Amino acid sequence: MKQVLEAIEAKKTMMLDFLETLVNIDSGFDNPEGLHQCAEIIGNKLSSLGFEVEYIRVPDVCTHVLAQKKGKTSKSILLTGHIDTVFLRGTAAARPFMLKDGRAFGPGVADMKGGIVTGLFALEALGEHGYLDDKNVTVLFCGDEETGHPKSNVAEIYEREGQGKDAIFCLEPGRPNGEVVVGRKGIINPSITVKGKAAHAGVDPEKGASAIMELANKICDLQKLTNFEKGILCNVGMIGGGTGPAVIPDNAYAKLNIRVNEMDDGEQMLRAVREIVAKQYVPGTETTLLDDYFVYPPFVTTEEVRHLLTIVQEQGRKLGLQEIEGIFTGGGSDVAWATITGSPAIDGMGATGGSMHNDAEWMSVQGLFDRAKLLALSINAI
Ligand SMILES: [Zn+2]
Repeated sequence: MKQVLEAIEAKKTMMLDFLETLVNIDSGFDNPEGLHQCAEIIGNKLSSLGFEVEYIRVPDVCTHVLAQKKGKTSKSILLTGHIDTVFLRGTAAARPFMLKDGRAFGPGVADMKGGIVTGLFALEALGEHGYLDDKNVTVLFCGDEETGHPKSNVAEIYEREGQGKDAIFCLEPGRPNGEVVVGRKGIINPSITVKGKAAHAGVDPEKGASAIMELANKICDLQKLTNFEKGILCNVGMIGGGTGPAVIPDNAYAKLNIRVNEMDDGEQMLRAVREIVAKQYVPGTETTLLDDYFVYPPFVTTEEVRHLLTIVQEQGRKLGLQEIEGIFTGGGSDVAWATITGSPAIDGMGATGGSMHNDAEWMSVQGLFDRAKLLALSINAI
């Protein structure tokens, strides 16, 4: 593996050039052409490494890249991530890729164009020295992660491609101290609308049915579903309703955010929410539940995930990196769809950085090289 590490050392300038090219193409949700352009740059690179590349185009939305390379054994690995950033058209022109004091800046530099570069160059260095011949490798970079795939079926693709993998590495940014992510909460974002009956609040209030009163009762029930011990969180985060202080309100709505550690807890929460929605407090009101499904399932820290973490940690020690900790986070990620069939994953394997989703976003240049090496060693160790 010494040659592979040396090859990555020798590719440092190429890696930064490649990153600069990607960062300087806006790829927010408002820019399908930019997303496709990035997808093609990534796809061309993968083709040159001997991968079969498929572009999954979602018209007027984005392009996903799915690439496969067959190996001589049954070992199989999935590298995942996303091409899109949260930054809108014009951001790259306003603050293009820049290097300063060992850090790189620019829209999406860490989240996660840096991660894409670590993945591509780790594969290239491994392939050049014959270390990929035995493995089946799949690469899946989607184009609409930051918006939660409102118009594409990428969750199904993740689930399909995640099946039966010996290891999944998600190239979301590594944390500033080098931590990787070994667990995430599942997320459900239901909303509730209540229809009531309007009436004059002073003249004939008895003829009305207060949608706000109905919702208020339901909110109390919903908030009680939170169970900190089990890591179940239910937050009614937004409410609204009514047309004026003198009118019995005929409408009200609430938006919820539910987070769970286990799939079963999520199913149980959905049943509980449906029961609360079905129960009527104020006669004459009618409640509807929308979006009662997982936006992200939980990424569960299974025994297999812990084992995969020990492999990554061992590679980190070989490279002399700071001890790599595996952390749990409440945020969701696509990697959870890929792990739903039981394949183990490590997330946050991309270049280390910080200040994601804002103008100060940065990526550690050394982190980019270190992570490419860590990924190469980890893939080889599977
Ligand atoms: Zn990301």
